[in-house]
This record gives sequence, C-alpha cells and structure tokens, in this order.
Amino acid sequence: MSDPTVADWIAEGEATIAIFCSPPNRDGCGHSAVVRLATLDPRMTRSRLARRAVCSACGGRGGQVMRDMAAHYERMRAAGMPVLDGYPQT
Ligand SMILES: [Zn+2]
Repeated sequence: MSDPTVADWIAEGEATIAIFCSPPNRDGCGHSAVVRLATLDPRMTRSRLARRAVCSACGGRGGQVMRDMAAHYERMRAAGMPVLDGYPQT
C-alpha cells in the first residue's frame, strides 16, 4: 500500500495524521501540524494530501505526511504495551 488513503488510516485506527512543512523546491521551515482525519475526504490519498498542504508558518506549498506518532505511542501505552522513553516531546 504505497499511497494509502484517509479511509485506510481510519481503518487502521488512526484518528489524526501529522504533516510536516516540506516544499519540494527548498527546505521546510520545521513547522508541522496534526490534522484530524475526520475532517478530510476519506478518498484523499497521501500523495494528494502532501501536494495540497500549505504551511501556515512560511506559506510553503507541499508537505510530508506522516503518521501521528505521538498518538500512536499513546495508544500503545493505553493498550499496556511497553513504550521506550525518549520519544522527542514537542
Ligand atoms: Zn513552513
């Protein structure tokens, strides 16, 4: 599944995804945002989402779409799974 859709993420139990500022023609400014999947079109693919992302900090167009790892680890903790400390806090 190289280009998952919003519906795929929801099916995997994700509620949010993170998008990092990453314009294709220059370095990103480091800004990132967490987006609620429920607010997006379920048929939206990761590549389309990445292309359409616009950074609210620098105005750069284009982002890198990642799993919301903070939420991911939170679910693992809630499920009683061992989670190593040291995940960078934002
Ligand atoms: Zn930016």
